[in-house]
Amino acid sequence: MPQPPILKVNEIFASIQGEGLRQGEPTIFVRLTGCNLRCDFCDTKYAWEGGDDISVQQVIEQVKQQHKEFPADWVCITGGEPLLQDIRELSQKIKREDLKIQIETNGTRFQKLPIDWYTVSPKPDKYFVHPELIRIAREVKLVVTEELDFDVVRKIRQEFPPTTPILLQPESNKESRMKEGMHLLKQSSAKGLENIRVGTQLHKIFGIQ
Ligand code: SF4
Repeated sequence: MPQPPILKVNEIFASIQGEGLRQGEPTIFVRLTGCNLRCDFCDTKYAWEGGDDISVQQVIEQVKQQHKEFPADWVCITGGEPLLQDIRELSQKIKREDLKIQIETNGTRFQKLPIDWYTVSPKPDKYFVHPELIRIAREVKLVVTEELDFDVVRKIRQEFPPTTPILLQPESNKESRMKEGMHLLKQSSAKGLENIRVGTQLHKIFGIQ
């Protein structure tokens, strides 16, 4: 992977945040190339490879351009897995633009960064999360797939602080996965697991990027 000041970037675009507790908020997305996992259900497989080598300064210029057209308080650095590349300089420069930063990560890597909102989405089959991320995550997103069962939900609930919300997000808004998400939610409630909720992918309902 290229190192700073060059990043491998898949795409930069403005939209709404479609997932999690920030759902619906205007957001500029910086999608970095590459992932250390290969989930069957991944809906951004196109970001596993390819992309362009872009300097951090060029990324900032593109973010500012997007911001002119679609004012947003937030930049979401996503992937693929964004923490495979060194994004210290990128995150520092975004903060200097007076924008807030969200990171969407699978939880396997950690960097010390000036981030406002960590969204951690542990993935099968180990659902491993770096200990530092367990401490600072603002939300946990579990994609409801055939691999996700109650034992996983319970393990993740026990790992994270009780105040960190866990969202059960049905894979690609599929009806069968929504039913399973509701089933897991009821099961969690019946077994005394707290601060768990279901979610959707709002951008797919709106038919936008
Ligand atoms: S961790 Fe995320 S980006 Fe990587 S393969 Fe899995 S779903 Fe796709």
